[in-house]
Amino acid sequence: MNKKLLDRFLRYVAIDTESVPDAESFPSSDKQKRLLGMLCEELQELGVKAYMDDYGYVYARLPANVKSNYSLGFIAHADTSPAVSGKDVFPIVTPDYDGGDIPLAEGRKLSPESFPDLLSHIGQTVISSDGRTLLGADDKAGVAEIMTLVETLVSHPEIKHGAVQIAFTPDEEVGRGTDFFDVKRFGADGAYTVDGGGLGELEYENFNAATAKVRVKGLSVHPGSAKDVMLNANLILMELQSMLPVEQNPRYTSGYEGFFHLDSMNGSCDEATATYIIRDHDRDKFEQKKKLFGQIAEFLNAKYGAQTVTAEISDSYYNMKDKILPHIHLVENAKSAMVRAGVTPKVVPIRGGTDGARLSYEGLPCPNIFTGGYNCHGRYEYAIGEEMEKCLEVLLNIVDVYKDFDKSKK
Ligand SMILES: [Zn+2]
Repeated sequence: MNKKLLDRFLRYVAIDTESVPDAESFPSSDKQKRLLGMLCEELQELGVKAYMDDYGYVYARLPANVKSNYSLGFIAHADTSPAVSGKDVFPIVTPDYDGGDIPLAEGRKLSPESFPDLLSHIGQTVISSDGRTLLGADDKAGVAEIMTLVETLVSHPEIKHGAVQIAFTPDEEVGRGTDFFDVKRFGADGAYTVDGGGLGELEYENFNAATAKVRVKGLSVHPGSAKDVMLNANLILMELQSMLPVEQNPRYTSGYEGFFHLDSMNGSCDEATATYIIRDHDRDKFEQKKKLFGQIAEFLNAKYGAQTVTAEISDSYYNMKDKILPHIHLVENAKSAMVRAGVTPKVVPIRGGTDGARLSYEGLPCPNIFTGGYNCHGRYEYAIGEEMEKCLEVLLNIVDVYKDFDKSKK
């Protein structure tokens, strides 16, 4: 595979950039700035104007070398998930994968028995960790692909392109990747996060999301003399759960099906609390789900007394689709860029949120494209070298399409 791309990737995964949930500082861990600072320097060494701000965001811009009025952006995050350690990553490169087990450290193995997807990569280059850490392809594959794109454009001035904006961000994995992202400074008309999974993945729809904080006030008395007096908060909370549609539960939903998820609960007879998350791609169904939750609380209050149940529902993020549709060319052009690279586009609804979703609501329409990474957030994470190459080719094709794109005609 492309040695430059592989070398970059291996260099980046060796740097620990694990982000930390609920940190007070930003970025959540200072070590992320080591990689981000390094990326900034590498961009400068390539002769690209690049800047890292105090939060650790790296912004860079490649001026157009043709007359073009569309400014295109690419974004990847440099942090890795706190789900599994990202310290001392020892990548294992298996070229010409034969379909068998890949032995890892400490007796572990990356096996098609557990991960049948591997069998579709026979003959390709599998890059994994040694099983003691995650690999960090999420999203250092995206970082390496974008960096190699920049290097290719810089070293081949004969490749014509419009303005290209690049950003590398911290803290995506702890849900704060866009907290201080400066959309204005970035200056793109439209962008892509390069943070997806396997070959051909293209995403521009995500969940609408809300959190419901439930509090049930009970009335605790001695169980021996509780008749007609006791209100057991635990039981009322269980009653609330029992009134939710039983099939709209993460375990039973996929694709475009939304759900109510009981994320945590705590309780005694006196008081019980619970946190639910509510998700649906469809905005109307999302609003209905929130309404239903409120109605259940009202019903229980009518039954047990006012203020017994309070449900505070707050929205977390929305489906970016509404914001992408007026810029659907970003999706259509990504599809044609894939087809040109011999890749079949696979449009899949994201069953979660992305930084691109938040950015889309801040005025930067931002679908997500594949990186060639699999099994993210785990010790069996791996990337496919040839798919990373295809990603690079797709990025180059997208750049090519947008050099001729006239935004005044949209
Ligand atoms: Zn990611």
